[in-house]
Amino acid sequence: MDKFWRSEAMLREQCPGYVSTIVEAPAPEAWLHRVHSVDYLERIRHGRLSSEERVRLGLPPGEALLTRSRLEAAGTVAAMWAARDDGMACNLGGGTHHAFGDRGLGYCVLNDVAVAIRAWHARFPTSRVAVIDTDAHQGNGTHGIFSGDERVFTFSIHVGRNYPAEKTPGSLDVELPRYASGEEYLDRLATGMEIMQQRFPQPSLTFWIAGADPHEDDRFGQLRLTDRHLAERDLQVLGWTRRQGTPCVVLYGGGYNRDRIKTARIHADTVARVLAFHQPHSPQNGPPLGQLRPSA
Ligand SMILES: [Zn+2]
Repeated sequence: MDKFWRSEAMLREQCPGYVSTIVEAPAPEAWLHRVHSVDYLERIRHGRLSSEERVRLGLPPGEALLTRSRLEAAGTVAAMWAARDDGMACNLGGGTHHAFGDRGLGYCVLNDVAVAIRAWHARFPTSRVAVIDTDAHQGNGTHGIFSGDERVFTFSIHVGRNYPAEKTPGSLDVELPRYASGEEYLDRLATGMEIMQQRFPQPSLTFWIAGADPHEDDRFGQLRLTDRHLAERDLQVLGWTRRQGTPCVVLYGGGYNRDRIKTARIHADTVARVLAFHQPHSPQNGPPLGQLRPSA
């Protein structure tokens, strides 16, 4: 997927000094075992998936795929600790929300958010954690992993009649019709955030899987958000986290625009908005970055 290096290059150019490479080691197996079964991990490592499982995953299993996924999960965990210290942090990847404990689906091998939340709970066992998933597809893996765990609130807004065909109930699901307009998306998102505020106020930590695929030119999202709608979406979510006083970890989620560069642009724009929101003197808002201390 070229979107990762493309968006990183865009951000390094747009926000010099604000992107840091801090993760070098893949997530240790012990972290993964809090979420994923040993059998599943070994079958990914050794490529022992049935042809049906390979189709469902959409990626060739093997040591290389497992290592890549472990690096991604380690990035989300690192962003989580950075968000605890700084209030907000992004992993330039992550949000692999279709992965369950015992199976990978839809290009998602490991559930990085679940790995991070379990690492958080290992240190803070009673802490309340929210997951906001605005990717166009339901976060079914995350929902399944935390089903029945009262400490974790999982909110997903997505197209009802889109992938995954079989939905897994979360704490709060907002289902949109296919090709819903940007206005409808934003209205329903605002309502969902209000419900979440009532049912799960002031979480100690929030993960936000943004998703570039609600964009109108996405191949798989089946929504009609323009760039302006996506900007409003981002500010809605960021405003919610500020009102709740919760640290926020921001993750990419999916993006499959007809224009590959556009996919990277959407992800980069969300990260730049996070920076502008969190750092009032970021390049979009204030004096040149050269005068400022980089956040990381
Ligand atoms: Zn998606």
